Amino acid sequence: MKMQRFRDMSINRKLTVLILTSCATVLVLAGVAMIAAEIATSRRFMVDELGVKADLVARASQAPLAFLHQSGDSEDLAKTLSALAVDPHILRACIYDKNGTIVGTYVRKDGNPQFPPHPSPMVRTFSSRYLEVTHPVMVDGNQLGTIYIRADLGRLYGQIEMHAAIILAILVGAILLTIAIAPRLRQPIAEPVLALAAVARRVAQDNDYSARAKKYGNDEVGLLTDAFNRMLGEIESTHTSLRVAKESAESANKAKDQFLAVLSHELRTPLTPVLLTTSLLQENHSLPAEVQDDVQTIRRHVELEARLIDDMLDLTRITRGKLQLHFEPADSHKIIKDAIKICLSDRMEDVTIALAAKDYYVRADPGRLTQVFWNLLSNARKFTPQGSKILVRSENPAPGRIRIQVIDSGIGIDPKALPRIFNAFDQVDSAVARRVGGLGLGLTIAKALVDAHGGTLVASSEGPGTGSTFTVELNTIPVPSNQPQPTSPDPLQSNSSAAVPLNLLLVEDHASTLKIMTKLLKQFGYNVRGAVSVQDALTAAASSKIDLVISDLGLPDGSGYDLMRELHARYGMKGISVSGFGMEQDIARSAEAGFCQHLTKPIDLAKLQAAIQNAVGSTNCSAASTHV
Ligand code: ADP
Repeated sequence: MKMQRFRDMSINRKLTVLILTSCATVLVLAGVAMIAAEIATSRRFMVDELGVKADLVARASQAPLAFLHQSGDSEDLAKTLSALAVDPHILRACIYDKNGTIVGTYVRKDGNPQFPPHPSPMVRTFSSRYLEVTHPVMVDGNQLGTIYIRADLGRLYGQIEMHAAIILAILVGAILLTIAIAPRLRQPIAEPVLALAAVARRVAQDNDYSARAKKYGNDEVGLLTDAFNRMLGEIESTHTSLRVAKESAESANKAKDQFLAVLSHELRTPLTPVLLTTSLLQENHSLPAEVQDDVQTIRRHVELEARLIDDMLDLTRITRGKLQLHFEPADSHKIIKDAIKICLSDRMEDVTIALAAKDYYVRADPGRLTQVFWNLLSNARKFTPQGSKILVRSENPAPGRIRIQVIDSGIGIDPKALPRIFNAFDQVDSAVARRVGGLGLGLTIAKALVDAHGGTLVASSEGPGTGSTFTVELNTIPVPSNQPQPTSPDPLQSNSSAAVPLNLLLVEDHASTLKIMTKLLKQFGYNVRGAVSVQDALTAAASSKIDLVISDLGLPDGSGYDLMRELHARYGMKGISVSGFGMEQDIARSAEAGFCQHLTKPIDLAKLQAAIQNAVGSTNCSAASTHV
C-alpha cells in the first residue's frame, strides 16, 4: 500500500523523498556509530580515571592503615576518602583492613551508606547505572587493605545526550538544506521526464500528434524521448492518412445519400399522377371490367415501383442506424388481415387463414409491422404459382409469445441458399427474380424490422419445389384497456357529406400532378385552389379563405418550408407537405417549418385523405406525426 502510494507520487516528490531519505539514513547511521564509539571510549576513560583515583587513595591510606591496629584511629582514613568529594559522580567509597573489616567510609551527601560486607578482589564492574572499582592497598608486597569506590554514570549519559542533540541538530539542518537545494538536485533527472510526461498528456487530451518532447541529453531518458518522438511521428502520419480516408469516405457517403435522395425524388414525382389517375379511373364504374383489370394492373405495378424506391431508402436508414419506429399496442391479427387484403385480394381462393393465437396484441409500429407481412405475403404470392396454396397461421407457442407463419407451396428454397436470403440484394435464382421482379431487399428490411421489434424472423424450406415457411415470433402484451378507435377515415369516402366543404390550397409545380390531384380532391368534395409557385400561393391565400395548404417542397421561386412559415405567420394556417424527398432530415425539416404531416410521393389517396382529416382536426400541428 505504502509502495503504491510512493509509485503514485510525482517524480519531483519521489526524488525529494529519495534525497531526504538517503541523507537522513547516512546521518543517523553516522550518529549511531559516533555515539557507540563515544560510549566505548568514555567507559574506558571512566574505568581508568576511577582506577587512578582508587590508586591515589590506596597510596594515601598506606600509613594510616599500617598503624591502625596500633593507634586505633581511623580518622585519617576518613579524611583521605573525603578527598573523593571533588568528583560529584562518586557515590560512595570505603576502606577495608586486611581482615575485610570496613575501617573508613565516604558517602556523597544524598548517597546511600551501603557497602559490600566483604571486599572483592580487584574488579572493574560496569552496570547500566554505576561503575564499581576495588583496589588493593599494598606495602612491601603485603596487602594491608582494599579500597572500594562506586560512581554513577551521569557523565557518560550526559555525553551521549549531548552527542545525540548535536546529531539531531545536524540532521534537521541537513534536511532543511536538502529541501532548499532539492529542486536543483532533482532537476537534471526530473526535467526531461516531466517534459516527456507533459507532451504525453497533451497528446492524450488534445489528440495533438504534432507535439514533440524536448531532448535534454543522451542518457536513457534521452533514448526514451527519441523513441517517443519517433512513435508520435508514425502515429501522426497514420492518423493523417486515416483522417483523409475517413473524410473522403464520409463525403462519398454523403454524396451517395444525396444521390439516393435525388434519385428517389426524381423517380417518385412522375408516379404520383399515374397513381392518382388509376385511382380516378377505378372510381369510374362505367368502365368495362377488363379495363378496370388493366387499371388495377397498372396501379399494382406503380405501387410496386414506389415500394422498391422506399425499400432502397429503408435500407439506407437501416444500414446507417437511422430507422425510427413509433411503438404502440397493436392487434397483430388485424395487421396480418390488412396485409392479406392488400397483397392477395385477387388470390383469396388460394389463401387459408388460420389465426388461432389467443394472445395477439403486440407492441409494434403498425406501419412497419404491416410492411413485414406485406413483404412475406407478396413473396409467397410471387413464388407460388396460381392455384397453389398459401397458409397464414398464428399460435401462442408459449405464454407471452406469438408465432405467425406464412407457409406457401411454391418453388421452395435451396437449403444452401437459405442462410443468405436475408442478405441485401441476395436472390436465390436471379432468372426467377427477373421474371417476378424485386431487388432482393424485402427480406433484409423485414428481418431488420422484426429485430427492431425484439422478435425473430426465420425462413425454412425442404428444398426446391417443396414450398417455404417464414416464421415471425414476437412478444405479446395484454389487451390494452383503451383500445384506440380507428381514426383514419375510409380513404375513398367523399368529403361532400361535411357541412361546409374545406378550402384547400394545393401548391404543386408539376403540372400533371397538380391537375390530377385537383380533380381528385374536388371529386371528394373539397374546394381546391391551385398554385404553382410560392408567390402564386401567397397571392391566392391573400385573396381567398383557405383552411389548409397542401404544398410541394421544391418550388420554382422558393421552398415549401418558407411558404409554410409565411402562411402560418400571416394567417395561422395549417399545412401538409408533399415531396419526393422522404429521408429523416426532410421529415424533420417539414415539422420544423410547421407542417402537420409530411407525405412522400407518390401520394396514396388514403394517406392524403387521412392526413387532411388529421391536420384539420389537430390543435397542435408540431405534435402531429410525420408519415413517410
Ligand atoms: P425480392 O425482392 O427479390 O423478393 P426478398 O429479399 O424479398 O427480395 O427475397 C430474397 C430472395 O429470397 C428472393 O429473390 C427469393 O429468391 C427468395 N425468397 C423469398 N421468399 C421466398 C418464397 N416464399 N419462396 C421462395 N423463395 C423465396
